[in-house]
Amino acid sequence: MDAAERFSRSQAAGELVDQLAERGVAGVVTTFVDNSGITRVKAFPLSKLPQVASWGVGVSTSFDRFRADDFIAGSGHGEEPVGDLRIMPDVRRVVPLGSLPGWAWTPGDRYRQSGNPHVQCSRLLLRRLVDMLAERGLSMRATFEIEWVISQGPGDDFVPAVQGPGYGMARLIDQADYCRDVVQALREAGVDVDQFHPEYAAGQLEVSVGAESPVDAADTSVLARSTIRAIGHQHGFRTSFSPKVAVPGVGNGGHVHLSLWREGANLMSGGSGPFGLTPEAGAFCAGILSRLPALLAIGAPSPVSYLRLVPSHWAGVYACWGVENREAAMRMVTGSMGSQLWAANVEIKCFDLLANPYLVLAGLVFAGVAGLDDELTLPDPVDVDPAALDAETLVSRGIRRLPTSLGEALAAFKADDALREALSPELAASIVAIRESDIEQYADSSDEELAAATRWLH
Ligand code: GLU
Ligand code: MG
Repeated sequence: MDAAERFSRSQAAGELVDQLAERGVAGVVTTFVDNSGITRVKAFPLSKLPQVASWGVGVSTSFDRFRADDFIAGSGHGEEPVGDLRIMPDVRRVVPLGSLPGWAWTPGDRYRQSGNPHVQCSRLLLRRLVDMLAERGLSMRATFEIEWVISQGPGDDFVPAVQGPGYGMARLIDQADYCRDVVQALREAGVDVDQFHPEYAAGQLEVSVGAESPVDAADTSVLARSTIRAIGHQHGFRTSFSPKVAVPGVGNGGHVHLSLWREGANLMSGGSGPFGLTPEAGAFCAGILSRLPALLAIGAPSPVSYLRLVPSHWAGVYACWGVENREAAMRMVTGSMGSQLWAANVEIKCFDLLANPYLVLAGLVFAGVAGLDDELTLPDPVDVDPAALDAETLVSRGIRRLPTSLGEALAAFKADDALREALSPELAASIVAIRESDIEQYADSSDEELAAATRWLH
């Protein structure tokens, strides 16, 4: 970050101040997501935006090792309280928040005081990986589906705040004002809402948003979840994105849809491979599929994630792929007849919303590119629920169950030197330290205790 860059940041921010003031903005929050998936903030008065855009706002290095419950999973060498970073708001994405009147939001990147990027900043990491993809003439488009539940009142117990059957009109009618406010607030925040529906589990709802470039998609996930939480607050509801809010029943997923593009063409369609995949897209997907066990340590980052990851819950717990197969970890979506060219994509179902979305997409880009480099090919697609196949058939078709615990996923992550190197050894070490600390923390908890302890953290 040199003087010219700081100057242009300050100029760009200065041009926004009056517009934001006219829209009633008094304060700005800038956010980053930590390695436990918590969105952390620093806020400042609107008048400080030009200064903060060029010099940042201070934040401790210790956040790299924060658990979701704010315990710091230290290295044991006592360095956590020492050191400071600057969160540099990316004002290109500043947006007034109708859901939090008087506030605007902007995602931040973390830099060192020297002006160099902080090696553990997940947003800058994702940007680096996207640039690496661009050097190959490729780009990715992605989006996160958001599932959540609303609970009545301030208590810690989960009391579904909306009644009626899954996907049922009655549920929408039951909280029509809330549902409308969510959609409207998202639209006002610039989120391209594709659709909204009452989901399967008690008190559960879902929003899908349009695909974007990876950094934008991760930013949108942060913005959309903050907006949904704020609207819930206005209606007296608690909001949970936890993968297991209550032990019985299905959980909240954080499915990622992605497609690979070259020169304006979607490589997931019109190709010579199965269902129109191009060989390049096939290799990219094969790279992701082969690394899902290790990627779960990023995309299903908490012990509670594994309470959701059970067969027959549409969570995709088998490492396989198939067209519109909701029990496959990788569900191929070809799009309707006529829309394939732009609509074809794959959905990674096994991840949840406790994950840092920047890290998730960084891991997926890395795995996809590794698949290209290694010229991997996809195994045969699976067109049934793998849980309906016997053990022998699963083995003969090469369909593996994904890790059933965070410990198992972490072992795969630790064994994947190339993935850890791509993230940076420092970031990988933080992820390992936090996950090991989380595993230890909940080692003796029952499923009910684990779900209750993590229900309101994210
Ligand atoms: N709630 C399910 C999950 O845990 C997903 C349901 C769906 O396919 O939308 O991932
Ligand atoms: Mg859903």
